[in-house]
Amino acid sequence: MNPDNKLNVPDRIAGLSDLAYNLWWSWNPNARNLFKEVDRSFWKSTGHNPVRLLKEIPYHQLVACAEETAYLESYDAAIAGYRDSLSTTKTWFSTTYPQHADKSIAYFSLEFAVHNSLPLYAGGLGVLAGDYCKEASDLGIPIVGVGFMYPQGYFHQHISQNGWQEEFYEQLNFDNVALTRVCSPDGKMLTVQVRLDSTAIQVAAWLLNLGRVRLYLLDTNLEENPPAYRGLSARLYGGDREMRLLQELVIGLGGVRMLNALGIRPAIWHANEGHCSFMLVERVRELVKGGASTESAVKEVKATSVFTTHTPLPAGNDAFPLDLIDQYFHDYWVHLGITREEFMKLGTTQDDGSSFNMTVLGLKLADYRNGVSKQHGRVCRKMWHKIWPDVPEEAVPITSITNGVHLPTWAAPQFQMLFQRFLGEDWKVRQDSPGLWDNLHNIPDELMWAMHRWLKLKLISAILDRARQRWSQDKVAAVQPLAMGALLDTEALTIGFARRFTGYKRASVLFKDTDRLKKILSNDLKPVQIIFAGKAHPNDEDGKRLIQQVYSYARDPEYGGRIAFVEDYDLHMARDLVSGVDVWLNTPRVLMEASGTSGQKASVNGVINLSVLDGWWFEGYNKLNGWAVDEKDTGDAADYDNRTANAIYGLLEDHVIPLYYDRDINGTPHGWVKMMKESIHSNSPFFNTSRMAKQYTGQFYIKALEYISQNK
Ligand SMILES: *Cc1c(COP(=O)(O)O)cnc(C)c1O
Repeated sequence: MNPDNKLNVPDRIAGLSDLAYNLWWSWNPNARNLFKEVDRSFWKSTGHNPVRLLKEIPYHQLVACAEETAYLESYDAAIAGYRDSLSTTKTWFSTTYPQHADKSIAYFSLEFAVHNSLPLYAGGLGVLAGDYCKEASDLGIPIVGVGFMYPQGYFHQHISQNGWQEEFYEQLNFDNVALTRVCSPDGKMLTVQVRLDSTAIQVAAWLLNLGRVRLYLLDTNLEENPPAYRGLSARLYGGDREMRLLQELVIGLGGVRMLNALGIRPAIWHANEGHCSFMLVERVRELVKGGASTESAVKEVKATSVFTTHTPLPAGNDAFPLDLIDQYFHDYWVHLGITREEFMKLGTTQDDGSSFNMTVLGLKLADYRNGVSKQHGRVCRKMWHKIWPDVPEEAVPITSITNGVHLPTWAAPQFQMLFQRFLGEDWKVRQDSPGLWDNLHNIPDELMWAMHRWLKLKLISAILDRARQRWSQDKVAAVQPLAMGALLDTEALTIGFARRFTGYKRASVLFKDTDRLKKILSNDLKPVQIIFAGKAHPNDEDGKRLIQQVYSYARDPEYGGRIAFVEDYDLHMARDLVSGVDVWLNTPRVLMEASGTSGQKASVNGVINLSVLDGWWFEGYNKLNGWAVDEKDTGDAADYDNRTANAIYGLLEDHVIPLYYDRDINGTPHGWVKMMKESIHSNSPFFNTSRMAKQYTGQFYIKALEYISQNK
């Protein structure tokens, strides 16, 4: 640990300083409470950021904690738990695969969503990567993460009075977050070089501790670099194609060189999505430089690499014009011992030679390849059959490992308490055994319902808080707090819809028949309300128009304040939403949702899914644990949308609303709670990162390690 990071904390509770610099605290409630208990309102005002808390809180408050017996008891227990969890040699990985305990596995991703204080993610891809690293820590899987440090990250979202998305960027204050500069043994900032066209740029790194997992975040904002390149790592997805190519060059080439400089020698390399595929090429270069033939270098890289694809579209967002590749790689392929044509072939297919596709590159240079749900695996095999034209489609070598979510991050503390009490103290360790969850049925309906209601109140109060702030600080027009949810009703059946706003997710499909929808929402005895949230990519005009459309309904008195659009969807609001609404709605165009994970987060909190049968829900739905829309997409978009909308209205009218409002004399909806329990019981043992990480380990990492040791 960098001594600069020692915060000024009384000796008796000095461990708080270490803990603040390891996000382990964020998914372990006992550790989290140590910061919260210092001063709840101060804690909230820092955005739940312990580094800021410890720096800014008056010192005498820390002294008071250090003298309070009850605080010290919690402190000693939580710190012991922390130290034990970091130092134990008896993890799942080391006991299952003792012969590989000394290996390390590099995991590259352009996004990591780990905490709201660090703006390193735009959406689902980042959440998955963050959840995966936390799980790797819990299981002792020897992952080392490589990503980017974006001081401005992804944008914050405001919605103007006429419903248009406004983007603004905040500059991160590095002193106030849990990052440490990576230095060489002599104490100087460690840098590596990457040549971009004719300029050599310096790349430095920050270290972020996620439990046992170290995450190295690359940074080009250094004085040594020309101004044009300093901003390279400023924002996530902020620039044009060229900027994006440069970012991918830096993470791919710079990432490999940084691990080298740190003396880390991963046995296995995992690229999370095509953004990081240049990492594979760079490793070929290294091997060739070390004397290997191109052929054997490629063979070795393939045998030690895992590539996970997340998109159901051939181009996705990640292909580059060949002239850009020429510009930046013209003197690079020489070092691989290959010609321009051979290099271009790595990123192109027979039928599309016009752009260099990062997914194709990943598929061609990694022997272990997967999509992120069963359905998505099939889509990928079909889509990429052209790379393996000689085998039947079913035999295309892309398998699938279905995504999951990190349950200690996404299960609300109230539900974690229930699990601890009714499933057992060790529920986290046993989360992927279906039998564990059978005891859910011992939870009294009243108790589960009370927890759920509490979380719903918490959500609505958080939404009102945001609306109030915008009203009082930014003096927005009076209609805006209403559109943001000021009229939400704590008793109404509440549907949540929160995700990226983009065409295929069809956020506005519910408004296909506005008369029928109004009737559903405005039933005085059985009211229904819908909460929307989500950002559109800054360059996605269609996505922004979708937001505008939804916002126009939210501000329309005809809907009686029963539609709300919550601004600036982020990790924090996501936690509140997936645990505080009653129903989680998802309406993707079928075959377009690779997996989706927000519905998995909802299900562990007893929030019931109503979703198009796609992505993970295609595997999760069992007729008792929620509702499914199973309409075929025949290519006629308007007709498909109408059928989808009608199916949803029908489900709401005939099933969802009656079940929700069927109460006993104390107000408990037993039928509903039964379905909540079924949702948790059937989904949670499978759609978690524990099951997922064990699958990656067994099917990929260990197989690759064994293959290498047999072929040495
Ligand atoms: C989980 C999550 C997502 C991904 O949700 P999907 O349903 O997979 O689209 C996006 N953004 C945030 C903030 C999340 O927490």
